[in-house]
Amino acid sequence: SGKQAVTVIGLGPMGQAMAGAFLAAGHPVTVWNRTASKADELVARGAVRARTVAEALAAHELVVLSMTDYDACHAVLAPAAGALSGRTLVNLTSDTPERARAGAAWANGHGARYLTGGVQVPPPLIGQPGSATFYSGPRDVFETHRATLEVLTSADYRGTDPGLAQVYYQALMTIFWTGMTGYLHAAALLGAHGVTAKEFEPDALKAADLAYFIGVMGAQLDEGRHGGGADRLAMEAASADHVVHTLRDAGVDTEVPAALAALFHRGVAAGYGEQSFTSLIDLVGKPAA
Ligand code: NDP
Repeated sequence: SGKQAVTVIGLGPMGQAMAGAFLAAGHPVTVWNRTASKADELVARGAVRARTVAEALAAHELVVLSMTDYDACHAVLAPAAGALSGRTLVNLTSDTPERARAGAAWANGHGARYLTGGVQVPPPLIGQPGSATFYSGPRDVFETHRATLEVLTSADYRGTDPGLAQVYYQALMTIFWTGMTGYLHAAALLGAHGVTAKEFEPDALKAADLAYFIGVMGAQLDEGRHGGGADRLAMEAASADHVVHTLRDAGVDTEVPAALAALFHRGVAAGYGEQSFTSLIDLVGKPAA
């Protein structure tokens, strides 16, 4: 086909979507997964099933990895480390920046080039417009494979440090998990009052749009200016308490909202009551005492 051939190792929902996107774009694809049956559908669509990890690595120069975490990647690759030399590994597995750096050093030590990636979309959005992945690692390696990788998502290259893609990825995930957990509490509260998640959807979407606050508060954070704005932490601590009390009255779990309220009150106790919410950065920016 003239398209670059790719090996995909790890066929969870994400790896399956990625291998499928490469196939749909006309790339020759070789696949391997610990549980071999997860390759069946891809093989039916034209992928080649490698019998061993070493065979999968030998098949093509470009190898995309997608597993649960770096422990899984190491369990899969270590026994076949002799086949890594000359390969380019693009590890789209999420884990900590430190583990990404260690994985890069390990792979480089076995003669492989290495890029890390943090995928910003769920499997159904792989290959769809508007999707993106953070990449980091050697720029020349990224540029060499950029066009092929953009079959999966657009590419946000963040720099040469292989940990960077995960720094950005985990930064987004802390917003995502906090926001989605808040959404679950909201849905539970409304459910207790007879409102369905579907009925709540337009309001939830508005609440999830933090663009205004991120714009205003990002400037405050960068300028270290937490006073004189339109909000007071003392008001926000009271607000966080109202959330906890409302959830409790509805018979909904309050552990996570209570932890947020406790953080706000810690800020008030530290003397930030008349300052903005952003003054909490002094507490959030270091481990709790
Ligand atoms: P899964 O956890 O479902 O991935 C499972 C894959 O990892 C399977 O191939 C599984 O093999 C393999 N695996 C796990 N442990 C081992 C092990 N010890 N030895 C060998 N293989 C192992 O994840 P997803 O497919 O959903 O996601 C893959 C990566 O993409 C993750 O790092 C995730 O954080 C990231 N990601 C996922 C998103 C999503 O919405 N799904 C969104 C953005 C990023 P087997 O089939 O044999 O169990």
